[in-house]
Formats: sequence, structure tokens, C-alpha cells
Amino acid sequence: MTKFVIVSGGVMSGVGKGVASASIAKILQEYGYSVTLIKIDPYINSDAGTLRPTEHGEVWVTCDGGEIDQDLGTYERFINQAIPKKNSITTGQIYSAVIERERRGDYLGATVQFIPHITNEIVDRIYQAAQAYEIVVIEIGGTVGDYENGAYLYAIKNLCAKSPTQNIVHALVTYLPVPPHTGEMKTKPTQQAVRLLNQEGITPDFILCRSEQPIDDIRRQKIESFARIGLDGIIAAPDVTSVYHVPVNFEQEQLGQKILKTLGLAQKKLPNWDSWQNLANRIINTSLPKVKIAIVGKYLASGDFSLTDSYLSVKHALLHAGAHLGVYIDVAWLDAHDFEIGAGKIVGDLEKVLVEKFKNFDGILIPGGFGAQGVDGKLNVITYAREHQVPYLGICYGMQLAVIEYARNLCNLTDAHTTEVAPDTVHPVVDILPIQSDLIKAKGYGGTMRLGDYSAQVKLNSRVLELYQAAGRAEKLSTGEVIVTERHRHRYEINPSYISQIEQAGLVFSGVHVRADNTRLMEFIELPKHPFFVATQAHPEFNSRLESPAPLFIGFVQAACEFATKKLKD
Ligand code: GLN
Repeated sequence: MTKFVIVSGGVMSGVGKGVASASIAKILQEYGYSVTLIKIDPYINSDAGTLRPTEHGEVWVTCDGGEIDQDLGTYERFINQAIPKKNSITTGQIYSAVIERERRGDYLGATVQFIPHITNEIVDRIYQAAQAYEIVVIEIGGTVGDYENGAYLYAIKNLCAKSPTQNIVHALVTYLPVPPHTGEMKTKPTQQAVRLLNQEGITPDFILCRSEQPIDDIRRQKIESFARIGLDGIIAAPDVTSVYHVPVNFEQEQLGQKILKTLGLAQKKLPNWDSWQNLANRIINTSLPKVKIAIVGKYLASGDFSLTDSYLSVKHALLHAGAHLGVYIDVAWLDAHDFEIGAGKIVGDLEKVLVEKFKNFDGILIPGGFGAQGVDGKLNVITYAREHQVPYLGICYGMQLAVIEYARNLCNLTDAHTTEVAPDTVHPVVDILPIQSDLIKAKGYGGTMRLGDYSAQVKLNSRVLELYQAAGRAEKLSTGEVIVTERHRHRYEINPSYISQIEQAGLVFSGVHVRADNTRLMEFIELPKHPFFVATQAHPEFNSRLESPAPLFIGFVQAACEFATKKLKD
């Protein structure tokens, strides 16, 4: 029978429930259990696809095309396992399913109510996602005491009702502030969070105490007596430089064994953290050889929100590759607007500005993006990377713009553009294909993109193939073709009518997805006479985990490392 670990949050949001949940799952996996995670988001949106990334962080794409909260990304990076979209549950999905059923007449004249209809729907969805796993970690979004998440805390009690033994463990992630004027760590907000959870009829088995410093004995005892939680259940969760240290920190307090004991489960194997710990240590080891990577995007200010969160997976993919290669990754976020002429941006010589800025970097990465903002700046940066032989990795928009740059400067198509930015361009090198425009007309914007896993046939002798093969991610089909699979999230495609002209000018399209109607969608490009100029229509960052980094990121970081060494010699 499946066992559940429920992770809820007290005091405030943003204290690391996602990382705590992922770490618990990782620990239980290390003890030999098959584990998955579910994220419950109490908002009314059906999914995260139309949420503003500047408010909500990155939109994570699942293998089966779900556009999900970025916590699912954290989970995958920790447990090294794909998590499908059904593992993301939102209030919007729950209510629309129940209302749809009511309209169909499935409830046979009954009054459709919060209890049992909504709560049953929640429980059914949890069981659907839990199938085939021994332990499921469920993270409940929001903070205990929010009106919105009460429904889930209530529904979850039905999970215990179905089991004769204890099959649920509750972990409450709280925050212990140290107000500067007292300099003392305060437990009161945690005590109140426990009370709020008690009001839902739940007593936490574990309190994960997030704080800058580890919680001391006096504060542990205070929580023990006020919240009536055994000392054993109070777990220190101090700030760490890299999130990948969290599971090992939890294990220092035997969290895994304690959870298994509460659930009446034995250890199936002894955990071995050596390799994980080694990789996590490398991420923060500044004495390793250093590579400086510039990520050029459009970072428009939005209050105090750290916009770099919209590219969280890209950053992690770089860190994974760095840990794997034993180099320290130093990332800088550069605003593409700073490399635009006109609008008063660049005064004087563009080339000079670019040289001045980029001479300090060993690699340039342009991540995914939408709209016209910052596009001209990105195009200028791509020209610089191509001409100055600086390693370049382009992701999604970063590939489309690299193709446009090539078409403009090496194929004499000076007006080449994407119709996303210039709908009337004479040379729509990047365009919406007819199948996609029909969809947009029919559905508006939500859910009209090419989403999730697509396979590409990769060219023999290409750089891309070499990298995927080295990582064990290339699959040879009986037809002799070699395919690689990555996740996607985009509407526009490289226009097939320009391919041969661009190819003749030297750019190699090294991977292609062939649709059932024989349309060829370009998936990878590379420049043979460049140390590393590779881009993809896909989002390889969604398939990068600490223990298995994404092949293109390995190639890019390796090339950046070689570039840095060469720079030192010159
Ligand atoms: N805006 C581009 C498109 O829709 C690229 C999207 C992306 O970079 N994810 O095709």
C-alpha cells in the first residue's frame, strides 16, 4: 500500500518547501524505495502556462507537455526521474472536472458539494498519480492558514482513512526569523503555524526549521513544549549555498530513518551519498577552474522579484554540467537591451561595447524568450559570439535568432526575421507553420504551443550526436537512424523554405523532427568551423539533473573551459 509524506508550509511562502519535498523524496529513494512527488497548487489556473514568469518564476514543461509550476523541476533534478503532468494538481483542474461531470449529468440528481465531491476528486487525483509508487511526497502550495489550501488539508485526511496502519507522515516547513534588533531566533511564528495546522485536525510529525543558522537546543525545546512535537521530530534546515546539500543535511538528523520508522517501513538499502555529496560540493567550490558564462536575456524589472528565476532550469543545467566536469560556474545575467543601437542604448561603436563587455566571458548563452523586447540586442550578441569564436549555446529563441543572424549576415537576407517580431517581413526565416496558425485561431493562446517531448533524427558525424552519444542519450532505431528526445515549448519554427539556402552558406541543421505529414521541423543547428556554436529549438535544461547533466550543456561548458584556458595562454 502506498505511503504518503505530506509537506505543508507555515509562517510564509518562499522558504523552500519545494527543495525540502524533493530532498525527502531523494532520501527515501536512497533507502531503496520507489518514490514520486505531487505538487498541489491552490490557485484557480488550470496550469502554469499563462502565469507571468516574472511573478511566478519559470514555467516548467513536463515530458508529456504539461506547463507546470517550477517546483516539478526541482523534484526531477533531485530524484533523476521524469514526473508527468498529472502530478500537478490545481484547484482550477479539480473544480472544472467536477463541474464538467455535473453538466454531463454524472451525479444523477445529487447536490454537488464541496464534501464529498471536491474532496473525492482531490483524493482520486492523488491516487492516480501515486499508482505504482511505494512512497509519494505531496507538497501543498501556499501557507497553512490560507483559505485556499484548507480544502487540500481536509481532503488528505481521507488518505489515512483507507489504511489500517499509519500511512501518512506530516512535515511542516516553517521559518525561524532572527530580527536584527534582538539578534535572537524566534519560535513564535512556528508555534502559531503548528496551531493553525492543529485546527485542520493535523499534528505534524516533523517540523523542518528553516533559518539562517541551525536551530539550537533551547529553541528545539521551546518548540517541543509549546507545539508538543517530540524533539526527534524537530529538524534543523539552515540556509545552504547550494540546494543540493539539503538532503545530506537532513540525513545528519536521520530524517530518512525517522520517516521510515513512523511509516512502519524498513530500510531496503543503505544510502550512499558519496557521489551526490561530491557533485554538490563541486558546485560551491570556488577553487576549481572557473568559467564565466553570460546569459543574455530580457530582464525587465518587476518590483523586487529576481527575474533570473524565470531561467532557473538553465542555471541549474549549467551547474550540473560544471559539477560533472569539475569546473566552477560563474553566471552573469546580462540584459539584451544593453546591446542595442538606437533608443539611446549604445553610444558610439557597437563592436567596442561588445568587446569590452564580453572579453571577460568564456561562453554566451541565449535562453528561450517571447516577443520583440531585447531581440536586436540578442542578435548583436550572437554576431559577436560567432565572429569572435566565443562558445555559444542557443536555446529555443536562442536558436531561432541564431538562424536569423546567419541568414542576415551570411546569406544576404538583410530583412530576415521572425514573424513573431516582424509579421510583414520579406524573409520570414522563422514563422508559424500552417498547422500552428489554425490552432491559434481555434484556441486563443492557452495551450497552442508545441509542448513536451519530441524526438529528433540527428545527423551522423555531428557535434550534437557526439554529445548525446557520450551521455548515453542517443537511441539507435532499427532503421539505422539515431534519435534524441528533448522537451519543447514554442509556437514558431524555422521556415522550411529557407533551409537549403542557409545550409549552403555553411550552417548545419544537425537534427530534425519529421512530422507524420512529412513536415521537417529543425531541432538543432551547429557551425562546424567554430569552437562551439550550437543551438536547439528544444529546452534541454528540462532534462538536466545533478546526476545526469544535459549533453549540450556539457559540450558548452567544456568548450567554455577550453576557451578560458586558451585565453590564459594567449
Ligand atoms: N518565442 C519563440 C516561439 O514561440 C520561442 C519560444 C521559446 O524560446 N521558448 O517559438
